[in-house]
Amino acid sequence: MTWTRSPATVARVTENPTPIAATRERTVDGFVREFLRELNFGQGVDLSRASVNDQYLAMARTVRHYLMVRWLETLRRQGELQAKSVAYLSAEFLLGRQLDNALLASGLEEIVEEGLSSLGIDLATLREAEVEPGLGNGGLGRLAACFIDSLATMNVPCIGYGIRYEYGIFQQTFVDGWQVEKPDDWLALGSPWEFPHPEAAVRVSFGGTVEQYQADDGVIRRRWTPGWSVLAVPYNYMVPGFENGRVNTLRLWSAEATHAFDLGIFNSGDYAEAVRAQTFAENITKVLYPEDSTPQGKELRLQQQYFFVAASLKNFIDEVLPDGYDLHNLPDRINFQLNDTHPVIAIPELMRILVDEKGWDWDDAWSVTSKCFAYTCHTLLPEALEVWPVDLLGRLLPRHLEIIYRINDAFLAELRETYPDDELRVRRMSIIAEYPVRAVRMAYLATVAGTKVNGVAELHSQLLRDKVLNDFSEYYPDKFTNVTNGVTPRRFVRLANPGLSGLITEAIGDGWITDLDRLQGLEPLADDSEFRRRFREIKTANKHRIADVLVHRDGIVVNPDTMFDVMVKRLHEYKRQTLKLLHIVSLYEQVKSGKLDIAQVTPRTFAFGAKAAPGYLLAKQIIGLINAVGRTINDDPALEGRLTVAFPANYNVTLAETLIPAADLSEQISLAGKEASGTGNMKFTLNGALTIGTDDGANVEIRRLVGDDHFFLFGLTEPEVSDLVDRGYHPSAYYETNADLRHALDLIASGAFSRGDRTVFEPIVSNLLHEDRFLALADFQAYVDAQARVDTFYADTDQWTRSAVLNVARAGFFSSDRSMRDYIERIWHTPPVLP
Ligand SMILES: *Cc1c(COP(=O)(O)O)cnc(C)c1O
Repeated sequence: MTWTRSPATVARVTENPTPIAATRERTVDGFVREFLRELNFGQGVDLSRASVNDQYLAMARTVRHYLMVRWLETLRRQGELQAKSVAYLSAEFLLGRQLDNALLASGLEEIVEEGLSSLGIDLATLREAEVEPGLGNGGLGRLAACFIDSLATMNVPCIGYGIRYEYGIFQQTFVDGWQVEKPDDWLALGSPWEFPHPEAAVRVSFGGTVEQYQADDGVIRRRWTPGWSVLAVPYNYMVPGFENGRVNTLRLWSAEATHAFDLGIFNSGDYAEAVRAQTFAENITKVLYPEDSTPQGKELRLQQQYFFVAASLKNFIDEVLPDGYDLHNLPDRINFQLNDTHPVIAIPELMRILVDEKGWDWDDAWSVTSKCFAYTCHTLLPEALEVWPVDLLGRLLPRHLEIIYRINDAFLAELRETYPDDELRVRRMSIIAEYPVRAVRMAYLATVAGTKVNGVAELHSQLLRDKVLNDFSEYYPDKFTNVTNGVTPRRFVRLANPGLSGLITEAIGDGWITDLDRLQGLEPLADDSEFRRRFREIKTANKHRIADVLVHRDGIVVNPDTMFDVMVKRLHEYKRQTLKLLHIVSLYEQVKSGKLDIAQVTPRTFAFGAKAAPGYLLAKQIIGLINAVGRTINDDPALEGRLTVAFPANYNVTLAETLIPAADLSEQISLAGKEASGTGNMKFTLNGALTIGTDDGANVEIRRLVGDDHFFLFGLTEPEVSDLVDRGYHPSAYYETNADLRHALDLIASGAFSRGDRTVFEPIVSNLLHEDRFLALADFQAYVDAQARVDTFYADTDQWTRSAVLNVARAGFFSSDRSMRDYIERIWHTPPVLP
């Protein structure tokens, strides 16, 4: 006998008999009453015994109540209007902390601060109690979070669908300078921002067999008999718009066993066996894969992808759409946006639902399916393009593999008509790769089935058309488009940089928070010395703020009176943290060898933040080397404290929010043609840092907008890189001809940063000398020269500040609100629904 959960029942009885109170009392007293009620009746403690965590949870729930009315209202209206919506499908949502954003969106900041303080509680202390949900690796996941924030703020109906990983991105610690990963148990102390709905769980199935049968209508059909299933339980999160009354939904799925407990087995005494099935099911959403840009092709990963996508489609069709909805109209009602290839298995899943479950014929199903999806590509690295071996996919999702083959057959037949004499091209474009193993190319499937394919910055979209997906752009010229990424100004300016926000608002009013182009109004103030003085004061205050954080968080001491030169992003060879490191080592070597007088060196704090995928050994070595160089430099009295390396562990959204507003110099130094867009670069520009960067990703657009005079460009361009690689790149030639470079590499090789041990960092040196896939040595001199220009420019404080102000004034384009406008105009055609 097994115990099974009762089927989801939704009581659709009547409207709320009495309207919900319009809002909670928005006064300090009202807040205090609500807060104490939550503390007493929600947490079960009184104020005198409440821990900081009790206070945080009670406050979070109180704030949540204020947003709840708006959420219910949004849902009610959505059900009524059935307006065209966006379903943003993403395996990652790197949300960051929720409390401040909820306070901002609801306009409760002041009331809460005052209310808590009247009880002797410091809001800042409670803020620190929040553990950020790290449900993403880096840029891709953070982009998803910025996008849903913008859509809510712009009154566009959107539902985010993703995975509620029990363990998010690992916590990085350093042991003797080496990265050691700890599990991110972000749910341990409770998560007040989520609403579980076990009664709305849906079943997701895997494995099994497919057979042919004759249906009642006489038609021959395929029937999938799955081998096993799990339950997908939705957890809803509020996505509040900024002061506009809308609260959209983010729905993250958690896996549970279909029968939590096999009582038969349990009664027979095998407790462990009874629990095994449950553990197996729950594994699916146990942990976020920590690989950024390099998929591992693991079976569990494919399970995760299908799990969340199948649950989301079912949820949308069965619950969000009204009863009896005619699915032929689906393309008028929804856009499923595929955030990279992770959710692409949704395409055969929708075909399966329409053909197998609804009994549609293939062409009808294809006609609808091929109008519902659009695909965002996030990479240019060939190794990052996801493929699933056919035998793995066929074992886990046999019916889906059949459907993919049939889609491919039709597609290849179409191609052969267009290119009758070009079988080579037809094979190149096949959704099924034959080598090195037969595998499904998910990007190709998404391109064939999607209405649009977009890159994430102009250069990236161009390279997608010209290189990565060139055959497809020739075949489908109208499918390809660009939407340059953006970041939300609410989190990354208004909340992260209250000082600058106040100054901006004082100068041009607060309309910029939802209309970032208004920052242009700051332009004339770049020439106002009083404005510049205040701007600089804020930058200095932000440096003091991060200095404080670094001391308490990491025991790192930095000097706020130095230039803050910051490189924070995932550790990846293509991003070239080693290039910045070589510059630092070179400076150090020149001082030590007497070539450079330390008194002539601009005092700088070199800040790094970066996690490496646990299996990416070279990246972990680079982390070890940065820390080793840092240790040596920071302790060497010969530098007179003028150069400091600060590498706080565990770079995440929370750290980004305090570190970026303190930066003078933003390091965006990827090899041209490798960084799809970058969004870190935008956050820095908006916070008044100047960029030293290559002609790559969105740097190209940043430079064009802020102007050449306010951006430190260096390095090979993408065509130059291609040329050099085609001609044959030999990194050792740069080593031999560039003495500074040679001395820096020799110093590392000598064991100077590894207590004399020459073996420790040998793999890095050897990789740079013999392989250097991302041409760090080729760009070294150009980078050093650009850094010299930075020093000269920085020496003139007024000139520097003027440029920093102009960077802010000209960066409004990089709001994710603008990205959303572009998606709406070029891809979704979903008008806002005004309240
Ligand atoms: C913005 C952001 C990123 C992306 O940074 P890039 O420099 O664009 O790679 C990664 N991680 C976190 C925590 C971020 O906030």
